[in-house]
Amino acid sequence: MNQEELQKLVEEISLKYFHAPFRHEVKINNRMTTTGGRYFLNDHHIDINGHFLDEKYRADLIGIIKHELTHYHLHLAGRGYQHRKCDFKNLLAYVGGSRYTPDIGLRRRQTRNYLYECENCHFQYPRVRRVNTRKYRCGRCGGRLELIRKNK
Ligand SMILES: [Zn+2]
Ligand SMILES: [Zn+2]
Repeated sequence: MNQEELQKLVEEISLKYFHAPFRHEVKINNRMTTTGGRYFLNDHHIDINGHFLDEKYRADLIGIIKHELTHYHLHLAGRGYQHRKCDFKNLLAYVGGSRYTPDIGLRRRQTRNYLYECENCHFQYPRVRRVNTRKYRCGRCGGRLELIRKNK
């Protein structure tokens, strides 16, 4: 799947599941390993992890696109677009988006079972055990940490 086909797929999913158009850009990012995609608040574009463009990951790719579009549409509507918000959880469940990045073995063998990311600066914290995110904050900027992936 190339850039143009991906753009078309995201636009289709947006109309079909969110009943609203996606009017910004999707970019393929081949350097991503821990996350399937990312929505950018500043220019509203979406990055998609290039490893998921293989036909065999089609279902995973659609789950990732729905996840990023959930951020996109809620942010543009001025609603709760962060993972912890009810708006986000509800809409994600409604469209059937994925909660965590599917594990397709991109990372080396992991003993770190939990991956946290700072909501503000996006710095990532792999951890062996679950972290109390009410208590612990980002060491760089003090931002709130959120669990972005959990190994089975
Ligand atoms: Zn997300
Ligand atoms: Zn931070």
